[in-house]
Amino acid sequence: MLKNRRALITGSTSGIGLAIARALAAEGAEVIINGLGDQGQIATLCEELGATYNGANLLDTGAIAAMMDAVGPVDILVNNAGMQHVAPVEEFPAEKWDAILALNLSAAFHTTRAAVPGMKAKGWGRIINTASAHSQVASPFKSAYVAAKHGLAGFTKTIALELATHGITVNCISPGYVWTPLVENQIPDTMAARGMTREQVMNDILLAKQPTKQFITPEDVAAMAVFLCSDAARGITGANYAIDGGWTAE
Ligand code: NAD
Repeated sequence: MLKNRRALITGSTSGIGLAIARALAAEGAEVIINGLGDQGQIATLCEELGATYNGANLLDTGAIAAMMDAVGPVDILVNNAGMQHVAPVEEFPAEKWDAILALNLSAAFHTTRAAVPGMKAKGWGRIINTASAHSQVASPFKSAYVAAKHGLAGFTKTIALELATHGITVNCISPGYVWTPLVENQIPDTMAARGMTREQVMNDILLAKQPTKQFITPEDVAAMAVFLCSDAARGITGANYAIDGGWTAE
């Protein structure tokens, strides 16, 4: 379905981004992966996916510009890289706030503005932003993440309107809790911030949000990304698709 399409997926060395990269490659897209991690494992991934890799650190706007130059025109851009930090606002480190806003929000602006001219020239494009249930609702102790994801949802709607007549769609996918390193790594800080055990955080904080009482899988999110890249989804733009086990229905 995606033969002759080039796709750049940021933050695709792990978790949701990797599942999206795998799913787009399975549909025949030429995939470019990005993210941090062990170079040997990344080389193996590239081999598995027939992909190329650009290791730009997306906290660095110069590195993003260099990546977009090196990669060249893409048909599909998935802005997925993200990070989390959990702390009460008065203890929230200012440098963590800056980093979360830079990675989860501003990086999507920098990649999008570089990718749009090529998409416009072709009259076809798909921009998918991995937002979060936290693009629609809040949780305490996640001020930077919630602010960034709400911002990403607003950015998505704005760019969808700007590009609506160019054959380019721009959408968010908003997962609830997906079992990836990002979620696993926030458990210790949440235990500290709330004075809870690991089991209490898993059941009373994370899964308490999701009426299904199940974590979402990275593959669930990837399937939605594939659909949004299809021609059948040409009329879907400016949307924010929840895949959250019912979390934001409450
Ligand atoms: P993850 O930690 O498994 O993956 C994050 C990816 O981003 C990795 O490839 C990592 O190397 C990359 N990355 C981190 N810092 C980077 C940097 N400075 N430059 C370039 N790449 C960098 O996390 P995940 O859960 O797969 O998260 C992916 C996206 O999904 C994030 O935007 C996250 O906010 C969002 N999300 C996750 C969940 C969840 O429950 N896991 C829920 C909703 C939204």
